[in-house]
Order: sequence, then C-alpha cells, then structure tokens
Amino acid sequence: EPTLSGDFSTLMGWADRTRRMKIRANAETPEDAETARHFGAEGIGLCRTEHMFFAPDRIGFVRQMIMAGDDAARTRAIDALLPFQREDFTALFRIMAGLPVTIRLLDPPLHEFLPHGDAELAEVAAALGESVEALAARKAALSESNPMLGHRGCRLGLTYPELYAMQARAIIEAAIAVSGESGQQVVPEIMIPLVGMETELRRTRANVEAVAAGVVAAAGVVLEYSIGTMIELPRAALTADRIAQDADFFSFGTNDLTQTTFGLSRDDAGTFMPFYLEYDLIPRDPFISIDQEGVGQLVAMGVEKGRRTKPGLKLGVCGEHGGDPASIAFFESVGLDYVSCSPFRVPIARLAAAQAALARQDEQKRPLHADSR
Ligand code: PEP
Ligand code: MG
Repeated sequence: EPTLSGDFSTLMGWADRTRRMKIRANAETPEDAETARHFGAEGIGLCRTEHMFFAPDRIGFVRQMIMAGDDAARTRAIDALLPFQREDFTALFRIMAGLPVTIRLLDPPLHEFLPHGDAELAEVAAALGESVEALAARKAALSESNPMLGHRGCRLGLTYPELYAMQARAIIEAAIAVSGESGQQVVPEIMIPLVGMETELRRTRANVEAVAAGVVAAAGVVLEYSIGTMIELPRAALTADRIAQDADFFSFGTNDLTQTTFGLSRDDAGTFMPFYLEYDLIPRDPFISIDQEGVGQLVAMGVEKGRRTKPGLKLGVCGEHGGDPASIAFFESVGLDYVSCSPFRVPIARLAAAQAALARQDEQKRPLHADSR
C-alpha cells in the first residue's frame, strides 16, 4: 500500500488550492480505483472496459458473441457477460463513492478477441454448435490488416449493438444499485470511443438512451447519467461543433489522436523515434508529451468548436499525456476542465496542474507588449 508522508500531503494541499483543473485517474480494476483515490484522484476519467473481458471465465463468451452466426447465439453469449459487467461497475462505483466515473464502452482491437489457433477455434465452434470450417471462414472475414485503424470503438458498437446495450444496462443497473445502498447518487458518465462522425455518436447515443430508459423505468427510480465521446480522431476534432450536439462531455484521446495525426502507429513508433530524438527531428516523443504544433492544434480546435456549440461543455483528456507535466501545462492553456492519468501519476498531475495555473495567472498579469509603453 503506498502512503503519502506529512510533508508530501502539505505540498499536495498547496497544489490543490492553487490548481484549476481537476485530476482524475484511468482505472478499471478495484485495485486501480483504490490506488487512484489514495493518491487523491477526484474521479475516474477513463475506465477501459476492454480489459475486463480477457478473464478466463469471460473470454469464451466474448468470442462466441463475436463469432455467433445468428442472433439467438449472440444474445446467449451477451447475456452471460451481463452479470460480470454489473459486478465490475458496482465495485468501481462503491469505491469511488459518488465521485465521477467515466466508463468507456468497449473499444477492443478486435483481433485480440478472435479465437487464436485450432484449439480455441474448435472450442468456440463447439459452444456455438457449428462446424470448425464455418467458424474458420467467419474468422477470416473478421480478420483485418490494420486492426488499430479498423473495426473497433463505436464502429463495433454499431455493428454489434447488443454489445453496447449490455454494457449500458450493466452501468445503469450498477448505478441504481449503488445509489440505493449508499444513499449517494451515482451519476455515471458513459463514453463512446473512436467517434469520427456525428452520425456515429447520434445513433450510439440513441441505443444507449433506449436501454437506460428501459432499465430506469423497470426499476421505478430517477437516475441522472451523461453520455459523452472521446475526441481521438482528427475528423472528430475538425467537426467537434457538430459532434457536441449529441455529447454531454468530450474526453480527448491523445494517444489515438497522435497516432492518426502523425499517421504513425502507436505500437511501432519505437522503431525510429530514438533516431528522430537523437537528431533533433522532433523535440520530444509525441506519444509521451503532446505535440503542440500539430496534435495540440486539433485539441484546441476541438475545445473551441465544442464550446461554441455548448458553452458549458465539460472537457477532459485521458490519453497518456494527461500525466505529463508539459502536456498538462498545454491542457491548462486551452481550458480543459480535467486531466485523467495513470493512478500513480496523480500526484505529479496535481503538482503540474498547480504550476500550470500559476504560470497562466502570471502571464495574464504581465503586460503583453512591455516595450510598447
Ligand atoms: C487514447 O486514444 O488516447 C485513449 C485514451 O484511448 P486508448 O489509449 O484506450 O486507445
Ligand atoms: Mg483511444
């Protein structure tokens, strides 16, 4: 268990009184959530649900869900996943005790959920009561050359609407349950990944709202929740004014936004980035510290366009950059409401946000053209 010493707490207290931005953490397990709270996170800014599906007692159902040849088989697999997800979200809501929790609907690299090897394929075929040949053909049809630029995020939620419906149901049911037992209202924030077009968000939102309305009506309660989107594709930043019409909040996904703005795979940058850094072709690794000239402009544009449509739109960032001090200074300058980072970086983010707020105040006090007086 990490502990914070007295001096450290004093310093953090000073930072907390100084900073403007909220600090949240990226967390999906109860352990991560506990660590996040311990380090002073003011909520969860990103719960990546894809990590929840790899547990040995779940992955089989995920594979059946994706590979199912008919609706009945798909529904059976999805129904089997619902109690797991309800437990996942219940645990997080309990730990976060009324602090905001942003749950992102599934954004898997689909290839990781497909059966690998003959044994897994045979297992899924048996569970679905189909031939191995039929399953092999279906797997081939689902395989992609560039999964990170393919059938993921809301694209998958649109082609498999039952999947997002199950997650939305689990979130709303868990929020109702924890609100009831704690007497404290849980207000879940449901986040849609990899949106590039407002049509994707509108349709996904409508599906989520329909499920939520049904669950709330069946429970006979009132529950507040919000639906927002990741802004992690250049097209989303460029059309943020339209996307904001259907979003209650934006969270900038600067990992994917960096990947897609540079046209540079997140997973392969290591092959030549050391060379670029050594020869000063780039000042810092853009996957660690935000590229202000390129990616940063898209973030600034997303902020401006989003707030033009909705002046009070809540804005955050949940890419790795949310825990990087230079990037945090940039996010302060464009006016984000919060940053979300790995739980262990929360103290650094609290300090960096305070320093950024001070620097900004200082800048605003200083005359812009000192020599023109
Ligand atoms: C991002 O793209 O910045 C993000 C937070 O999502 P992920 O890293 O899960 O793609
Ligand atoms: Mg992403």
